[in-house]
Amino acid sequence: MIITKKKDSKDFLESVKKHKKMFLMGCSECASLCGTGSDEAIQEMKEMLEADGKEVLGSMVPKTGCQVLGTKKELKAYKEALDEADCVVAMSCGAGTQAAVELFDDKAVYPSNDSMFLGNMTRFQMFDERCSLCGECIIDKTAGICPVTNCPKGLLNGPCGGMTDGNCEVSSDIKCVWVKIYERQKKLDSLDEMKETIEAKDWSASQKPRIISTRDKDKEKAAK
Ligand code: SF4
Ligand code: SF4
Repeated sequence: MIITKKKDSKDFLESVKKHKKMFLMGCSECASLCGTGSDEAIQEMKEMLEADGKEVLGSMVPKTGCQVLGTKKELKAYKEALDEADCVVAMSCGAGTQAAVELFDDKAVYPSNDSMFLGNMTRFQMFDERCSLCGECIIDKTAGICPVTNCPKGLLNGPCGGMTDGNCEVSSDIKCVWVKIYERQKKLDSLDEMKETIEAKDWSASQKPRIISTRDKDKEKAAK
């Protein structure tokens, strides 16, 4: 999931200072799980904006904010409020915010969240980064654990010389990812796999912006 956190309220209010009438748009997927785009988050945002003298004309939590066509359909029920609003507050990740930009080409759209990383919820409201979306996954060779993301140096073939007592030299409160990979390979009786050298990554696979299609008929178009 995409991990988001709320922007500092002062900074956010500063960004919307020239607007009065607002429409709030959350997201019931990742942003809801992060508590940044749920019904409760919208209610909190409404109260904060009203305390600042703004008018909140309406709000909605689309099923999947970054799904442009689905969100467009869901928004039809809110046409009146949207027509009157002079800006939209997107309470989602950067992709959901830009879906709103695509849907409201004549209206200002402001993000209320910072998008942080792709990660897992490991405990309630606790999120760990797990994948850097490198475009060339190599974790079949590393016991399913990603060194690109979990090693601050992104080392692909074992630990650096700074690893101490199994902990990372960059953040001594976290375990070196290569110790985790070693322990898991051992548990899986696959330590032999660590003898293979992982080749330098092809970073062109992560060149931005990327467009892909999973539909055969669009693949050629997306690759251009
Ligand atoms: S190797 Fe790349 S795609 Fe695979 S988990 Fe790590 S960052 Fe993500
Ligand atoms: S100690 Fe391990 S996780 Fe930390 S930088 Fe070195 S190799 Fe990477």
